Amino acid sequence: MKPLHQAQAEILDAVAPLPVVSVPLASAAGLALAEPVVASHDLPPFANSAVDGYAVRVGDTAAVPAELSVLGTVAAGSVPEVAVAPGSAVKVMTGAPLPDGTEAVVRVEDTEPLDGGVRILVTATDGLAVRGAGGDVAAGTEVMAAGTRLAAAHLGVLASLGVAFPTVRRRPVVALLSTGDELVPVETADLSGGLIRDANRTTLAALIADAGGMVSDHGIVADDPELLRRVLDEAAGHADVIVSSGGVSMGDHDVVKEMLTGLGTVSFWQVAMQPAKPLGFGSVGGVPFFGLPGNPVSVYVAFEQFVRPALLTMMGAAAVFRPRVRGVLDDGASTDPAKTVFLRAVAVPDVSGTWHARSAGGQASNVLSAMAAANAFAVIPAGTGTVAPGSPVDLELFTFPSSRTRREAIGG
Ligand code: AMP
Ligand code: MG
Repeated sequence: MKPLHQAQAEILDAVAPLPVVSVPLASAAGLALAEPVVASHDLPPFANSAVDGYAVRVGDTAAVPAELSVLGTVAAGSVPEVAVAPGSAVKVMTGAPLPDGTEAVVRVEDTEPLDGGVRILVTATDGLAVRGAGGDVAAGTEVMAAGTRLAAAHLGVLASLGVAFPTVRRRPVVALLSTGDELVPVETADLSGGLIRDANRTTLAALIADAGGMVSDHGIVADDPELLRRVLDEAAGHADVIVSSGGVSMGDHDVVKEMLTGLGTVSFWQVAMQPAKPLGFGSVGGVPFFGLPGNPVSVYVAFEQFVRPALLTMMGAAAVFRPRVRGVLDDGASTDPAKTVFLRAVAVPDVSGTWHARSAGGQASNVLSAMAAANAFAVIPAGTGTVAPGSPVDLELFTFPSSRTRREAIGG
């Protein structure tokens, strides 16, 4: 058996980064920056008010209450046209540029209106309620490193800096197919004759999209070598990656293995892991090919451990593996010591912050309902075997614990 980390390393070494492109900012979510972003100007670009209030000279508020004349009003989006001399103030709205001569803003709540003026009730310190130029990001600083995967807040920072077309690597096109004579489309009502609905393609399509890829759907392919070859040739003609499920183990109809073994460009491995021990990896027509196992949980685990890191590597992301936290496996487990085992687990932190995990349900590789109930893999490394209840364990979080209900969050 091939050690898990060796299989992962061979895969990541074999995939190449995709071309660098500039894309509209609005379609860049999930993509990774191909070069660092350096701020071309300060953020905020100019000193402005953090509140609705009165821009003042600090010295004018040394003794309060202080009565100042009001020279005018500046709203966000306009420029103060007055210079403020001692004894006067300018009414400013949140976001308004700070008028020349002023050093602080006293919020409306700390003032009283006067006829043609204002009574200031508090002493202002230098910079009070002022958002200084560059206080968020100073011009010339690197705000994001190459390899950063762009999430909502990153996009907002780029928008503020005027980066309308960030430089990223393009999304991989992932050709997706399911193999198996027993498979029928989701819509099929009649399962007589030993048929099952194709679950893997739907799961994989969602995982691929979440990783940032674009799915090219090649449907269900029967266990027929000629048919399979035709679909793979077609996929290799346009895709960046090919992902199939089924047909890679030891059965009489494991046609993926049967057909591709002869070609010599795909290796069939026994990876020291559970689930997802059988795995085909190599290239078809120069395109990286993943022959995932057929069992739905194996598909999920193999995608997470091999395909997702490969897609993110192709996209140029710096961090390609899921986060792990150390926790406690409350119910323990008895696993095959020869393999790294990915238990489907429900993991939640307790009030003191310690993560606790327990089995999410049946641990056989066909029990997709337990996969759906899980938010983490409890990772039992090869060489471990039995884990006593309450033992420490690594938890790989693929989704955070399920979101809080309205009742949990705000009561009532
Ligand atoms: P295989 O490796 O092709 O022998 O498949 C292993 C198991 O996974 C068998 O029970 C298959 O019926 C099942 N399987 C294969 N492909 C799918 C699929 N796309 N959706 C659901 N189950 C599948
Ligand atoms: Mg099959």
